[in-house]
Amino acid sequence: MLTSKLPHVGTTIFTVMSKLAHECGAINLSQGFPDFPIDEALVELVEQAMRDGHNQYAPMPGVPALREAIAAKVQRLYGFPYDPETEVTVTAGGTQAIFTALGAVVHPGDEVIIVDPAYDCYAPTVELFGGRPVHVRLGSDMKFDADAVKAAITSRTRMLMINTPHNPAGTILRDADMRRIADMLRGTDILLLSDEVYEHLVFENEAHASVVRYPELRERAFVVFSFGKVFHATGWKMGYVLAPKALMAEFRKVHQFNVFSANTPVQHALAAYLKDPVNYEGVSSFYEAKRDRFLIGLHASRFEPLACEGSYFQLADYRAISDEPDTAFAKRLAREFGVAAIPISVFYKEPPPGQRILRFCFAKQDETLDNAIEKLCAI
Ligand code: GLN
Repeated sequence: MLTSKLPHVGTTIFTVMSKLAHECGAINLSQGFPDFPIDEALVELVEQAMRDGHNQYAPMPGVPALREAIAAKVQRLYGFPYDPETEVTVTAGGTQAIFTALGAVVHPGDEVIIVDPAYDCYAPTVELFGGRPVHVRLGSDMKFDADAVKAAITSRTRMLMINTPHNPAGTILRDADMRRIADMLRGTDILLLSDEVYEHLVFENEAHASVVRYPELRERAFVVFSFGKVFHATGWKMGYVLAPKALMAEFRKVHQFNVFSANTPVQHALAAYLKDPVNYEGVSSFYEAKRDRFLIGLHASRFEPLACEGSYFQLADYRAISDEPDTAFAKRLAREFGVAAIPISVFYKEPPPGQRILRFCFAKQDETLDNAIEKLCAI
């Protein structure tokens, strides 16, 4: 009889809820993806790359022009020049980057600190490689709790995983948080994995506190980014990882046997597209307007929105409507009221008792958001 390597894992909530939304015709604010088209210019660049014959394997770490464009962008935004040759690798999305980074450094018995609610691939991936996820929680305000993280550090801690802007919480890490993290890691061998896939979705004119800005942090970090989030193309499954040379060498040992290389024509297209900062500079204000539109609508409903500082996710407390556990409520919301959302208990090892919060994705056309709000206000 086959013994499962992941006995507690089922199908991801994103697949479950998107399927349910489809089956019952609900407006899908569950799985995070835009419902509007990508820039036509980007489509044309991919088409051109295919016509130019860029249809065979890319170099294992990525097309050089794209790695150079990434390094230039990172330096421009966060002030540090990663070497495109040895410190930048293009991946088939953020999830593959995370899987590969964990595969490269987690040994059996290693502890990896994960901050709940945590994106659902973190803990199972740690377990697949024989590591032990050590779960701590965000504070009750969904903000980073440095004391809780510090208390979880032991002599077996191999890595700390952080995420800003945070999925699903929608909160961000700030300079003070980064300094606290630097303090607690100083003098240890603990590695850092910083999931920054929503780097371009930070609101209220706050600066994205990338790990790249902090020498003490970046020298021990894999920093993960996603093109899907920035250019509204989640289905392209394109991302990249930055790490110092020695760490990146280990990363690439795994990457070459994991995917070998990412999609070639898309890499050529992104290399050209990335050169013009206009193509990513407006993303925060674009999504901030959507957040505000959705938020104003939610305020008119019986849902109680939580603070959303970044990402394209808005949390809302539904205690005034129902005392049902969130998964049951999310299913009923989709079936009876026509709006699909994500129950956030699935992002916890142990969800806080009595928490009644759903995650809504507002990366949608205004019309989609307005229609969803109309339904949510009718409850
Ligand atoms: N990142 C997306 C979300 O949080 C989901 C991606 C996926 O379905 N794997 O909704």
